[in-house]
Amino acid sequence: MDFLARLFAPGRSRSKAKTGYVKRDGRYAIWIYVQCDRCGEKIPVRLRTTSELQKREGPDAELGPGQYFVRKTVVGSRCYQRIEATVDFDAKYDVVDSEVINGKLITYGEYKKDEQ
Ligand SMILES: [Zn+2]
Repeated sequence: MDFLARLFAPGRSRSKAKTGYVKRDGRYAIWIYVQCDRCGEKIPVRLRTTSELQKREGPDAELGPGQYFVRKTVVGSRCYQRIEATVDFDAKYDVVDSEVINGKLITYGEYKKDEQ
């Protein structure tokens, strides 16, 4: 483990990023996509990088893998289930980790699949 960690050390944050989960919307916003556990609705969530994404610094920096994170409650239009999403992002706003209660994070591709 240590050997591999050292081997990939320069690209550490890049190698952890999960691609396909984030769609950029101009310079100051991104979209992520969650799916409701109860009804299966796929819900796009727009996040303003300037105000909604919080930078991990100070004591917070130790709490998660990302440089930025967001904690957001999402409610779809088909049911009243409250989906609690906590998502960690790297410096380029790619997802590195996520925890979603009552739902799950899906990729843009999975979100689009439904829309035809
Ligand atoms: Zn639902």
